[in-house]
Amino acid sequence: MIRGGWGGVRGLFMLKVHSIETFGTHEGPGIRLVIFLQGCNFRCLYCQNPDTQSVEGGKETETQKILDLLEKQKPYFKDKGGLTVSGGEPLLQRHALFDLFSQAKKSGFNTALDTNGSILDEAAKKLLEVTDLVLLDVKHIDPVWHQKVTNASNNIVLKFAQYREKTGKPMWLRYVLVPGFTDQKPFLHKWGEHFRKYKTIRRVEILPYHTLGVYKYKALGRENPLKGVNPPTKEQVREAHDIFKQYFPQVYIR
Ligand code: SF4
Repeated sequence: MIRGGWGGVRGLFMLKVHSIETFGTHEGPGIRLVIFLQGCNFRCLYCQNPDTQSVEGGKETETQKILDLLEKQKPYFKDKGGLTVSGGEPLLQRHALFDLFSQAKKSGFNTALDTNGSILDEAAKKLLEVTDLVLLDVKHIDPVWHQKVTNASNNIVLKFAQYREKTGKPMWLRYVLVPGFTDQKPFLHKWGEHFRKYKTIRRVEILPYHTLGVYKYKALGRENPLKGVNPPTKEQVREAHDIFKQYFPQVYIR
């Protein structure tokens, strides 16, 4: 039986995969198999992987194939590593992902979901049950700026964070710092205030905007939406770090 991303019965589940990184070290603890899925419902101005945004394309891959890869990599994970699914936006394929994560967990692997938190239906909640760690991007605390930066609302994103908090299971929050777009100090404080009482946040990561992916826009025949915007200076990154440090014990700059 073949089931696509929306299948509901254990059979052959398929995911649309953009690419695979076998020794990822940034998307969760330890060494990880990182699966980047195709398709995203946001259009972030600073997206470094615009080629993952379209829901067209990607390689249809059986979840079993990914499980086989995981088994092969097992010796490298030690006690920390495991499987991370990123994107694009993985929640778009949450039904097949539930199958993948459930099977991975049955085999004893750690599972992490790198998400923009934009979907919170029953299937997303089910997926969270088999997700050991959520890496949640909260891209702006202000609704108007969030809309400007991502072309989408932050309403569900904040509810998603709240829901994860209620489950008591861990998450890392991530924040891309872009001069002129996400570095307004009052909003950084507001972001900190919003989450300061959360008990499930294990760390906050600041991801300074960089321009390494801009060539991809050219290859896609698209204009870089942040043309002319420079990465933040060390000083600007330090300032954001110091603000978040007032609210969270663990703040890292990536
Ligand atoms: S959520 Fe991630 S993949 Fe989607 S547009 Fe934003 S940065 Fe790109």
